[in-house]
Amino acid sequence: MTTVTNAATTIIFRILKTFFDIQRFYQTFKIIYYRLIDMLRRLFFLLIILLPYWLFASTGPQDGIDIQHYTFRLTLNDSTNVLSGEATIDILFRKEVAVVQLDLRSRNAQGQGMTVREVLLRGRSIPFQHQNNLLRINIPEPANAGTLLPFTVIYSGIPEDGLIISQNKYGDRTFFGDNWPDRARHWLPTVDHPSDKAGVDFIILAPVHYTVVGNGIKIEESFLSSRQKLTHWHEAVPIATKVMVIGAARFAIQRSGAMNDIGVESWVYPQNRLEGFHDYSAASDVLDFLHNHVGPYSYKKLANVQSTTRYGGMENASNIFYFENSVTGKGGIEPLIAHEVAHQWFGNSVSEKDWHHVWLSEGFATYFTNLFVEFRYGRDALQERLNTERRQVIEYSHKTTLPVVFSALPENLIELLSVNSYQKGSWVLHMLRQEIGDDAFWDGIREYYRQFQNSNATTDDFKRVMETASGKDLTGFFKQWLYGTGHPVLKATWRYDNKGKAIVLEVDQEQKALFNIMLEVEVYDENKATSAVESLKVTQQHNKFSIPMAQKPSKLRLDPHVNLLFEGSLQELK
Ligand SMILES: [Zn+2]
Repeated sequence: MTTVTNAATTIIFRILKTFFDIQRFYQTFKIIYYRLIDMLRRLFFLLIILLPYWLFASTGPQDGIDIQHYTFRLTLNDSTNVLSGEATIDILFRKEVAVVQLDLRSRNAQGQGMTVREVLLRGRSIPFQHQNNLLRINIPEPANAGTLLPFTVIYSGIPEDGLIISQNKYGDRTFFGDNWPDRARHWLPTVDHPSDKAGVDFIILAPVHYTVVGNGIKIEESFLSSRQKLTHWHEAVPIATKVMVIGAARFAIQRSGAMNDIGVESWVYPQNRLEGFHDYSAASDVLDFLHNHVGPYSYKKLANVQSTTRYGGMENASNIFYFENSVTGKGGIEPLIAHEVAHQWFGNSVSEKDWHHVWLSEGFATYFTNLFVEFRYGRDALQERLNTERRQVIEYSHKTTLPVVFSALPENLIELLSVNSYQKGSWVLHMLRQEIGDDAFWDGIREYYRQFQNSNATTDDFKRVMETASGKDLTGFFKQWLYGTGHPVLKATWRYDNKGKAIVLEVDQEQKALFNIMLEVEVYDENKATSAVESLKVTQQHNKFSIPMAQKPSKLRLDPHVNLLFEGSLQELK
């Protein structure tokens, strides 16, 4: 009985324990569940609050606003690196907007960055918030579509970047804007994105020993006192913030040439006066070439400026900045000058609508340098450059799987500057020229420039114009070379068929995605005295061709004119 009684007690106890265990588990579960729900709710609200910041910070310009003109009144001084600014920004509203958002770096923990003192609308102070590198201006009465309003931002601070205040290699204090790609916001309140182009005035107050260069034409230079000078530069043509700059330094200045009434000027450090004037004078011929072959130059002067830019050259609109040591007195920087001058057409006048299409700047500047070299020095000089660029593209392809047109932007925009954007972009233009022929190529280029001068374009815009010019559907071409990755890797063999009196050439594509290409093969006669070029359409993985030939050739060579971006080998089968 004891056993029975004990057993019953144990069972009841176990049931009760299980019941309480379940209860306890349920309670714990309930607490976790509600905490989780609460956490998700907080996260959701945080997301709702932060989303506009992320969206605006990452996707470029604010919808519905279009900057028409910037006027920057900036005071530079020698005792501190503090920049005092008053920016008047004329904004055209495309739809009803209550809050305007501009890019402007906030002051950081190191004391660098900008502090906004006041924002005015037609002289009246209006509310604003300046946080997380964004200046949000609350318009008292929401602006309607079609209205144009002038906002003035009064600010000051030490620029962390963008306007580089430093000493040049001779120890002279200098100020040089260096905005590419999105560093204008360090010193200028702007819509800092290539799609919102605007005219610009720079009115610079600086100690008298500085000469100031800026975009456009100089419309005033006045000594205000024995210490301070005002210099006013004006650019009416819309340009992107990436190429909107001033430079202030001690300069030696020479008008080295002119095209129509457009002056070509050299601005160099006085210590480099003669060498600099000599080296930079190369710009005139490039300007002529592009003006005559592509279309009218968009600006009223072309200054070539020795500077502290971090790049080899920076194509600022009508105001090119070259690195300090570009001046040697020995010349040799013609290709660098050609690249930056070509940007005045491609990059500055026709600008990419978004960074994904940066090849429309860099690939074009690279290829138009090649075209200038071809024009000036002949086809061999062009082929030499193409050969070098092809080697660079092949080498780079081992490091990347990215296409030329970016499908997603890199976190750091500096990574846009890759061999893909420059050399591969240039090669694509070269192959497009082969694909549609010289006449259609140049017609298309001129039409593209005509349609998008002082505006923005995408890769598709360019494709459309080239299709019209050539009467060809270029979908496949653009897809494989710009939106796809890699290049053809060819393994070719040949033998001479004595009976059939023909060369048997077999070409295998060894890369993953197949390309549709024209492959040129040069066939030398038995004495290597003459040769003929055959154009073969390679579309399959394995391709077999029979080329009639009375005698066995002495040699075959792939792509003799350097017209195809590929790597590969050709072997004779004995
Ligand atoms: Zn460039």
